[in-house]
Order: sequence, then structure tokens, then C-alpha cells
Amino acid sequence: GSQAVKCSGCGIAIQTEQPELPGYTPEKAMDRDPVICQRCFRIKNYNEASSVAVDQDEFLRLLSQIGGKNALVIHIVDLFDFEGSLISGLQRFVGNNPVILAVNKIDLLPKVTNWNKVLNWVQKQCKEHGLKTEEIVLCSAKKNQGFDRLLDTVASYRGDRDVYVVGATNVGKSTLINRLIRDYSDLEQELTVSRYPGTTLDMVNIPLDDGRFIIDTPGIVYPWRYSELVTREDLGAVMPDNPLKPAVYQLNEGQTLFFGAMARFDFIQGERQSFTCFVGSRVGIHRTKLERADELYAEHAGELLSPPNRENIGKLPEWTRHEFRIKRGMRMDLFVSGLGWVKVNSDQGALCAIHAPRGVKVLARPSLI
Ligand code: GDP
Repeated sequence: GSQAVKCSGCGIAIQTEQPELPGYTPEKAMDRDPVICQRCFRIKNYNEASSVAVDQDEFLRLLSQIGGKNALVIHIVDLFDFEGSLISGLQRFVGNNPVILAVNKIDLLPKVTNWNKVLNWVQKQCKEHGLKTEEIVLCSAKKNQGFDRLLDTVASYRGDRDVYVVGATNVGKSTLINRLIRDYSDLEQELTVSRYPGTTLDMVNIPLDDGRFIIDTPGIVYPWRYSELVTREDLGAVMPDNPLKPAVYQLNEGQTLFFGAMARFDFIQGERQSFTCFVGSRVGIHRTKLERADELYAEHAGELLSPPNRENIGKLPEWTRHEFRIKRGMRMDLFVSGLGWVKVNSDQGALCAIHAPRGVKVLARPSLI
């Protein structure tokens, strides 16, 4: 049999097939001596962390080791896909270690957002999911907002702890780690990623000036996020890169909104009222009659209704229908993980439905904004 080659940085078994998984090294780098995985190579030579991903089971196995360590955990989530990216089982694994929740991508919300309200909302959601956090920091890795606050918070809880950074894929974890490397290590000296006694192999330990480490864990793949389902081509369309421009629709009962051919919202019953859509600007919204909706989809999905295009539409699972009765007096968002949400504006009550590919997390929540 073949003997597995191990990375001299983190110790993971080297593989040359799948760039997005831990241990990847390009074939042509195999004759380096010693062999090192691409992730460690980048940290060593460019002071730059890059993303790798593992499935939930593998991730929980990694997480279960944190409880026994002297750790400060930074749990990073994507505000645009909050319920989709939150690691709701985290509390069971971290033990008594402090957790800082970094809520990233706040640049995607409209500029006029009431941030205190957002912070309260995040606090409530954490409580609901049984997550204890020492501190919640709203930030944008892209726009460099909230980072000073985050670094101050890290400094005040760190003491002699190692800093474990955990998050789902695409939440901005690498961007954050690169910032931490820049702040906490001496860049004149080459970083040497190293094996750290007792940790599993798929975490990368990045040494800091004071002898402690930042531990980069792989990004967790959550199958219920739209962003994990779509092709690379369509990922750019569902993941907004500019602040969301809320689109307001006055609807009568019996009207439907299509979000490209990605999902559909039906207003089934209720007084005429307005609904606000928060989706990326490249997802075209199309209004029609509920009774015409199935026919429209059958005829025009992938064309008039896009993205995805005709070719990629077959790669998504069939749609499932989720019905919601919003009670009088409630202000709710109907949320589709990774795609966005529809805010029900009136508190008159409404009967609605969302159609989205099977497996995508769809839920009603108190309005974010
Ligand atoms: P990782 O997979 O968690 O390591 O995330 P990355 O740091 O690679 O970022 C994933 C994607 O999200 C990239 O396309 C980034 O440009 C984008 N991204 C990261 N941080 C932000 C942010 O604060 N705002 C916005 N709008 N996009 C971000």
C-alpha cells in the first residue's frame, strides 16, 4: 500500500486531488523537501491564511478538543446568512472557554441601519440558540469596520489563551485571520506554522510573538446554505457584494414574487400590504399572479427567471414549499439561507409560502431591520 505523506507544518496527510480540502498540495510541489500543504505554505511564505473546508462530523470532531484547552474562541458568522452560518452546537464543545461572536459583513446592510437594534437582535438570537458570548462585535472584514473593536476585545480576553477561530465557509474567516497575523506577529520574521502537541492535524497553528497561537480551524460546510448548493458561476449572483438595496413590493393576496429561478414567495391570504425583499442585486425579482406561477416557472425558468441559467438549473434540487402564517402584531422576515429574506412589513397578519430547493434552510424570524 502507499504510505501517506504528512505535511511538515500541520501534520495532515497530504493529498493532491481536492484544493478545497485540508492537506492539499499541487502535484508539482510534491518533490519539495520537506513536503508542506498549500495552506501552511501560504502562511509560512506570504503570512496569509487561506480557506479549506470539512463536513459537519469532521468539524465536530475538531471542535470537541477545544473544551479541554485554555482557549479564547472567536466564532465568526455572516450577517447576511445569520441562521445559516451560526454554529448552533458550539456551546457544548467549548466548555468554560470565553467566546467572542464576530458578526461579519455588516457592510451588506443598508447604510442607514440602526446598529443598536441589530446588536439587540443578535443577542436575542444567540439566547434562543443557547449560545453564550462574552461579547458580540459587529464588523466588516472587507470594509475594515469594527476590527479595532474586535482586536481590543480579543486582547482583553486573551491572557495566556490560544485563539481558536471557528466559522462556516465563506463567512470571512481567512480575512479575519490574516488581520490577526498582521497584528500579533512579527512580519520581519518568517512565520513557521507548527504542530502543536495534542491538537488534531487539520488545524493550523500560527505562532504569535508571545509564544501563544492562533488556531485556524477548517471552515464548516453546512449543506442547508444556498451558497453551498449553487455552481461557482451562480455563487457570485447569490452572494451580494454591495450593500443590499431593499426592494419594496405592494402586493394583493394571490400574488407571487420570483427571485430569479432560485426561490419564490407567495402572498396567499391577507389585506393588501407591502413586503421588502433583501437579496443580491444580481438576483432579478419578477412579480406574477399566484395562479400563473407554476406555469411561468415551467416555461421561463433559466431565461426570464434567472439566475441560474438553463444549463445550471438542473443542478439544483427540486423545490419544497414552506407555508407561514404570520400572526397579527408580528414583524417577521421569511429567511432563505444564503439567498436573503422577505420582510413582512404590516402587522396585519398574512398567510405566505416560500418555495426553495429541497434542503435549503427556510424559516420565519423576527425582523432583523
Ligand atoms: P472564509 O471562507 O470564511 O475563509 O472566507 P473568506 O475570507 O475567504 O471570504 C469569503 C468571501 O466573503 C470572499 O468573497 C470575501 O470577499 C467575502 N467577504 C469577506 N469578508 C467580507 C465582508 O466583511 N463583507 C463582504 N461584503 N464580503 C466579505
